[in-house]
Amino acid sequence: MQEFLEAIEGGASGEDIASIPIPETYRAAYVRRDEMSMFEGKESWEKDPRESLHVGEVSTPELAPDEVYLAVMASSINFNTVWSSIFEPLPTFGFLDRLSRESEWGARHQRDEHVVGSDAAAVVIGVGSAVRNWRPGDRVTVHCNHVDDQDPSAHNDSMLAANQRIWGFETNFGGLGDLSVAKANQLMPMPTHLSWEEAAVNALCASTSYRMLVGDHAARMRQGDVVLVWGATGGLGGYACQLVQNGGGVPIGVVSSPDKAELLNRMGVEHVIDRRAEGYNFWSDEHTQDEGEWRRFGKTVRGLVGEDPHIVFEHPGRSTMGASVFTARKGGTIVTCAATSGYMIEYDNRHLWMKLKRIVSSHFANYQEAYEMNRLINMGSIQPILSKTFVLDDVGEAANQVHHNQHEGKLGVLCLAPDTGLGVADAEKRERVGESRIKLFANHAAELDAN
Ligand code: NAP
Repeated sequence: MQEFLEAIEGGASGEDIASIPIPETYRAAYVRRDEMSMFEGKESWEKDPRESLHVGEVSTPELAPDEVYLAVMASSINFNTVWSSIFEPLPTFGFLDRLSRESEWGARHQRDEHVVGSDAAAVVIGVGSAVRNWRPGDRVTVHCNHVDDQDPSAHNDSMLAANQRIWGFETNFGGLGDLSVAKANQLMPMPTHLSWEEAAVNALCASTSYRMLVGDHAARMRQGDVVLVWGATGGLGGYACQLVQNGGGVPIGVVSSPDKAELLNRMGVEHVIDRRAEGYNFWSDEHTQDEGEWRRFGKTVRGLVGEDPHIVFEHPGRSTMGASVFTARKGGTIVTCAATSGYMIEYDNRHLWMKLKRIVSSHFANYQEAYEMNRLINMGSIQPILSKTFVLDDVGEAANQVHHNQHEGKLGVLCLAPDTGLGVADAEKRERVGESRIKLFANHAAELDAN
């Protein structure tokens, strides 16, 4: 892949890039089938991605006609890589085995190594015979919605497709490697004012937040809506707050430390709750929720803006869902895409039906939604929330930090890119958008490290 890197850095033409042979193996981060029982008997928090995520050479798959080979310059850690690396709730090899039964091309994915990663900023280095809109040399970001477009169910909203999968989680050959394989309909133009790692961290979390709040299929926030955002400086929450601000809404951010509260204020989020400082404990024991705590939380929320939230942006799941349903206003929407703290959730249904609230589910984003989100990033209206960047060899450490909620925003991973700060194509635009806005999360993380 070194030859590709030199060509990319030297500004080689697409034709020159296309003439470089695709290597037979490449370096990537993967989990191993023979290790999927390695953490048996351990609690989730004891399972260490540094033990299960390996970095090494894997063989390059053949390219399907609708796919591209990518030289991955940078990728990011998503929570799904944490799930893959701790083999929870299920080992991801089951997904690969099912995909392998679908078609000849699907069969390539069934391997003893699962190359993970669901984000990338990359350069196209090879295209299948059916690819029309992309060429070698194109600089792209990659969204993770992997859909077979010959399935009719994929053609209204592709997230409803029978064969919809998340690339690098439910498919092999993900983004955490020097090379990757993606379908052509996962590609988007790379924002021109961002570095490789800044461009790489957005697509999965930002597009998910976009669908939850802005797209046609979930909460459909309107101007003036009060939106309660759990994990407001996390991967999803950091984009959710920006979308609420841009759309004329009023974000209320929940976080768990004064440092994160300070970061929210710097983002311009005025209303902040430090859940740890307030000591909320919505479960009095493993089986019982404490309605008094919901009320205490709801009162704090109402006290901040004088009204209850139109929308609650949910993803922690079991620990917060009862409070979220309680706290949404009459007729309000709880939009959920995850359950980090446990998926067997519980809420008091009386608060839902008597107050005519609705719970709306959401999952990643279709191509159009991801593309719209990428456009907002390219316009400089949504900033990357990259806080720290790791090299691929340290991918286990990065995943471990996300696993233990030791991070803010997104963690980037350099794959082929030899250093941070490279890959900016439009320096003028970058200056217009503003270095301090683009690097808000990174500067905050650097300050914390310096103190
Ligand atoms: P993240 O970067 O770790 O951020 C999550 C935030 O949630 C944390 O920063 C934390 O913030 C907060 N949090 C964690 N546990 C909590 C708890 N028990 N109670 C209240 N808040 C809690 O992760 P992410 O990337 O935002 O992803 C969040 C979840 O969504 C994960 O489970 C992920 O798998 C899922 N996800 C789903 C989709 C989809 O398409 N369905 C897409 C992306 C992510 P504080 O500690 O500061 O409060």
